[in-house]
Amino acid sequence: MTTILDGKQTANTLMTTLAQTVSDLRSQGVTPGLAVVLVGDDPASAIYVRNKQRRAESLGIRSIKETLPATTTQAALLDVIARLNQDPTVDGILVQLPLPPQIDADTVIEAIDPNKDVDGFHPVNVGRLWTHTPGVVASTPYGIMALLAHYGLDVTGMNAVIVGRSNIVGRPMAGLLLNHNATVTIAHSKTRDLAAVTRQADLLVVATGVPEFITADMVKPGAVVIDVGMDRNAAGKLVGDVDYASVAPIAGAITPVPGGVGPMTIAALMMQTVELAKRRVHA
Ligand code: NAP
Repeated sequence: MTTILDGKQTANTLMTTLAQTVSDLRSQGVTPGLAVVLVGDDPASAIYVRNKQRRAESLGIRSIKETLPATTTQAALLDVIARLNQDPTVDGILVQLPLPPQIDADTVIEAIDPNKDVDGFHPVNVGRLWTHTPGVVASTPYGIMALLAHYGLDVTGMNAVIVGRSNIVGRPMAGLLLNHNATVTIAHSKTRDLAAVTRQADLLVVATGVPEFITADMVKPGAVVIDVGMDRNAAGKLVGDVDYASVAPIAGAITPVPGGVGPMTIAALMMQTVELAKRRVHA
C-alpha cells in the first residue's frame, strides 16, 4: 500500500499548533512580522504573495506588503530593504523572485539582514546550512523535511537522490538531508544514465520543472518519492515532475501534485518566521 504524503492536511495540522505559538508570543507582546516585497506585476508572483499574506494573517502574523513598480531601480529596492532591516517589528523579509532585469537578485538577497532572511537564500544562511549550524533554510526543502517527519519517515542511512540542483530546492535539500544523515546524490541535466542513479534511491526528490519526467522504470519499488514540480502538461493541467499514475503504484510513499510539497512550502515560511520572532522575547 502506497502512503500518500498529504501536504495540505499536514500543513493544516502544523499551522494549528503554530497559531497557538503565535498567540502565546502575542500575549508576551511580540507579534511576528513578515515583510513581503513584490517588484513588478508578474501575475504568478502576485498570487504567491497573496497566498503567503493570507496564511500569515490567518495565523496572527503581521503581514507587511511592499509593492514596487516594475521600473523600480535597484537602489530604490535596496533602500526599502535597508528600512525593513532596521525595523524591529519585522522578523522576516522575503523578496519575491523573479525580479525585473534591471535588478540583480544576488545583490538584493545579500542586502537582506541574514537574521531576517526568511527565505534562507543569503550566502550566510547557505553557509550555516552547509556547516550544520543553526540558520534559516529555504522553505521548500524545510517543508519537505517537516512532511517526512510528520509521517515518521527517518532518512538516516537512506540513499537519497535529488534530481535538480537549483539554489532554492536541490542544493539546500541536499544540505538538509546530509544533516539528517542520509547518503546524498545530486543529479542534474548532465548526469549520465539518470535512471540508473534514480533507481538506487530509497528517497527520491525531484525538482526539474520537466512535467511528468520521472517514470516508474526510474524508481526503486518501495521508494519514498517527493515531487517538487509544479508544471503544466500539454493539456494545460497542473502536474508534477513525476508521472504520478505510473509511479504511485510502486512507490512506498509519494507526494501528490497539487497538495504535496506546495502547501508545506508556505507552512515552512510561516514556521521560520515565528522562529525568528521568538528571538525578540528574550532580546
Ligand atoms: P530550476 O532552477 O529550473 O532547476 C531545475 C533543475 O533540474 C536544474 O538543476 C536542471 O539541471 C535539472 N534538470 C532539468 N532538466 C533535467 C533533466 N532532463 N534531467 C536531469 N535534470 C534536469 O528549477 P527549480 O526552481 O528548482 O524548480 C523545479 C520545479 O519545482 C519547478 O517545477 C518549480 O515550479 C517547482 N517548485 C515548486 C515549489 C513548491 O513550493 N512546490 C517551490 C519551488 C519550485 P541543470 O542544473 O544541469 O540545468
